Amino acid sequence: MHQIIIIGSGPAGFTAAIYAARAGLKPLLFASSVAVGGELMNTTEVENFPGFPEGIQGPELMQRMQEQAEKFGTQVVYDDITEVDFSGDVKRVTAGDGTVHEAETVIYATGSANRKLGIADEDRLSGHGVSWCATCDGFFFREKTIAVVGGGDSAMEEATFLTRFADKVYVIHRRSELKASKIMQERAFQNEKIEFIWDSEVAAIHGENEVTGLTLRSTADGSERELPVTGLFVAIGNDPRTHLVHGKLELTAEGTIAVDGRTSRTSVPGVFAAGDVVDPTYRQAITAAASGTVAALDAEHHLAALEQERSALSAV
Ligand SMILES: Cc1cc2nc3c(=O)[nH]c(=O)nc-3n(C[C@H](O)[C@H](O)[C@H](O)COP(=O)(O)OP(=O)(O)OC[C@H]3O[C@@H](n4cnc5c(N)ncnc54)[C@H](O)[C@@H]3O)c2cc1C
Repeated sequence: MHQIIIIGSGPAGFTAAIYAARAGLKPLLFASSVAVGGELMNTTEVENFPGFPEGIQGPELMQRMQEQAEKFGTQVVYDDITEVDFSGDVKRVTAGDGTVHEAETVIYATGSANRKLGIADEDRLSGHGVSWCATCDGFFFREKTIAVVGGGDSAMEEATFLTRFADKVYVIHRRSELKASKIMQERAFQNEKIEFIWDSEVAAIHGENEVTGLTLRSTADGSERELPVTGLFVAIGNDPRTHLVHGKLELTAEGTIAVDGRTSRTSVPGVFAAGDVVDPTYRQAITAAASGTVAALDAEHHLAALEQERSALSAV
């Protein structure tokens, strides 16, 4: 039986692995079969991860995190976890190849997925003008004309934040009114750099190597128009990857895994959660990494407490 199994190979999973491995806990980390390295594998330049003043490519950062985790003894398995059983003291996880692995603790760090528009060229131009994160990429759009798609609070927040850099921000929304809270709406309406395009959806994204424009389609009459922009921020929602733990771990109203205060303790003792899967708000590589640290330390304390209990029992 393992002491720690980690599910997920993003900044949260690998950071948890670095700490657990350095504590001598020999973690077994399931990295997934297709998306090893997590969300940062989908981006180019990361300029806000401390320690890299010249910036670093997302995939290189993740490769270095993995190397660091393996250097201290993390065993990485390139498979998905397809089922979890957290009902007993021994936690069981089933991998894609059908094997069942047991551990005293599990760190759940499966991240979250930004909702996509689902149109051609969206993935191809990701990191080349198409983005899901204004905090991450806003800086690259100084004095540009860009667009944000969405009508909720996060779309208003992204649009307002982006006006710090861009000269002009179009907000494209498929209805004639917003879902965002009153205060967020007001803030956006009062911003002179923001212009709303109502009853419209993005039908196509143009650009060979970088975004050069969009085709918008009216949701009212189907008519189309061209919009020249160099950036498109998609802010239509985010889904934490929790499908394996529904009914097994408590979730929050936002759909993230519920943890106890600033800890990583879930509703099940011995199961810890970290990264974007617990975070409805910040969702950054550094916050996910920090959260992985918390999970590794919590798991370590849990294992030490179990060990103490065992010694006390055997002394009776
Ligand atoms: C395009 C883009 C650009 C970004 N740029 C920046 C940036 O510049 N700076 C910044 O700080 N942040 C950036 N972010 C945000 C950052 O990538 C995330 O906040 C961070 O990666 C979250 O880390 P995580 O470990 O929680 O999850 P993730 O990175 O999502 O990793 C989760 C991992 O778990 C794996 N997994 C899921 N389910 C299973 C399973 N059942 N079995 C095994 N493995 C599983 C996934 O495949 C994935 O590898 C960006 C995000 C995107 C999408």
